[in-house]
Amino acid sequence: MKRKNGIILVIILLLAVTVCATLLVLLRVDTAKEYRIEASADVMVKDLVLDPHMNEVVNASQYIDTSTVGEHTAGAILKWLFIERIVDIPYTVIDTTAPEMASKTGFYLMCGQDIKTIENELEIADNSKTPVEITYSGEYDTDTPGAYDIKVAAKDESGNTSEKVYRLIVKVPGSGEVSYFETSKGFLGYTKDGMTYIDGLLIVNKTYGIKADAVADLTDEFKAAYNEMLEAIKADGMYLSIESGHRLHRFQVYLYNNSVNKYGKAVADTKTARPGNSEHEGGVAADFNWVSQQFRNSKEYKWLQENCYKYGFILRYPEGKYEETGYEYEPWHYRYVGKELAEILYNGGDWITLESYFGITSEYKD
Ligand SMILES: [Zn+2]
Repeated sequence: MKRKNGIILVIILLLAVTVCATLLVLLRVDTAKEYRIEASADVMVKDLVLDPHMNEVVNASQYIDTSTVGEHTAGAILKWLFIERIVDIPYTVIDTTAPEMASKTGFYLMCGQDIKTIENELEIADNSKTPVEITYSGEYDTDTPGAYDIKVAAKDESGNTSEKVYRLIVKVPGSGEVSYFETSKGFLGYTKDGMTYIDGLLIVNKTYGIKADAVADLTDEFKAAYNEMLEAIKADGMYLSIESGHRLHRFQVYLYNNSVNKYGKAVADTKTARPGNSEHEGGVAADFNWVSQQFRNSKEYKWLQENCYKYGFILRYPEGKYEETGYEYEPWHYRYVGKELAEILYNGGDWITLESYFGITSEYKD
């Protein structure tokens, strides 16, 4: 009896092993070795199952989560007869798609506003739903009204980057008509309330006029720089005085008419600015010490030539630059432009004119 029982047990075991093996073969599920799925792609559980064999994939039409980059598993619910089980299928979500950016060509910004103000308008969309890093580059200045080209780069967490160049218009605060323009050398300017600024600097010459009495006095920047320069030249044993500083419009009318009476209109226009075209009316220039060609022989003139730029002043109408400035040489007339620009224009003693530097003209229309 004992021996017979043993044989039966062995047969049962063999049968069980055979059934199990058969079931394993029949109920296997084939999947790919590695699934790499683009972020936000529409993928269903059934897409991860190559061959379910005898199984029914209960959740075949269920979308798997592809919103976040990284390794994940999807649970495929398999059913055979009345037996349900879950098989985990690993997959990796990757992101190889760069963020998308607004198709518009440009943006407006009020002067002084942070560049990040345009962030919402950029309409940046990325498939990975993770934070996108936005960087701005290019020669733009949100504190200076004008028109600029700004390069915006949007980088997602996988390093995919989109770049686009937009036109950025930095508007003058407040109301009023403003027109923006670009000089032949690519500087940005605007005209508002009868005053023209290029790269933030007030420009008054024969091309760019100034509204009558738009400025009441020499500017505070001019005065502060002048006082600093006066102390320095006094320390060197010389003296500086303002022979003619800010001029009211009617005084420029008087000066110009005198000049016309004396020289005739054609010559007067090379010597005296027409009313509405004088830097003196803008409060940014002054004639120092002696309004005479003789001034060039003075030690004060020599000192100014070597030092005025250090205080932000330039010799506005250098010798031999009539074609650029529209004026004959004026050794006495100095313009305040700030130290940074003054040093550039000083050019080691070989003065560059404002017109040449900005790429603008100085010519009357008539
Ligand atoms: Zn002058």
